[in-house]
Amino acid sequence: MTILIAVAVVIAAVTGGLGYRTWASSSPSTATPDRQADGVPGRPPPPGSGDWHGDGRGADDEADGAVPDGVTVFDDGFPAVANLDPDLLEALRRAATEAADDRVEFVVNSGWRSRDYQERLLDDAVSEYGSKKEAARWVATADTSAHVSGDAVDIGPTGAAQWLSEHGAGYGLCQIYRNEPWHFELHPDAADRGCPRTYADPTHDPRMQK
Ligand SMILES: [Zn+2]
Repeated sequence: MTILIAVAVVIAAVTGGLGYRTWASSSPSTATPDRQADGVPGRPPPPGSGDWHGDGRGADDEADGAVPDGVTVFDDGFPAVANLDPDLLEALRRAATEAADDRVEFVVNSGWRSRDYQERLLDDAVSEYGSKKEAARWVATADTSAHVSGDAVDIGPTGAAQWLSEHGAGYGLCQIYRNEPWHFELHPDAADRGCPRTYADPTHDPRMQK
């Protein structure tokens, strides 16, 4: 075995220096590309995993509202969280504190987004789905997106979104679209009146008809 490894290292060293670095894969330098792979380029959103986040997520995009894995509603070091509407954020934190008693943690898969970022997401979605019409079922324009105005948040994992769909109305947190069970917006009246009827998808939402 030792001989095999030695041979492989020699071959790698001969065929190009890169091979040697790959072989020494315990080095932390390999962590960065792995982390960037989290964006899963070209993948449509699987149910319950947060709506379309496109590719190219990384530290450089955080100022535009990209979110690394595992960010919670309390992490206001990230613009995606800090730039949410203050009332929405406050409701999310109250709900998350209650949910923690049920051992449920809210992860922010997406929150506030810059106009640039929203436009990139829409471009990516049009490429992926093949038409603007189909992309519109998942991604709004920069002019219409409630994420751009800081009024929407995508909560994961699935258990957290389920908890919110059951208990969120008490905090004014409502699902809006049946095809995006992770997407929540603030309806302050919901505590008294319940949440409004959901739309099948964003193309049925009059706010998207701009
Ligand atoms: Zn959303």
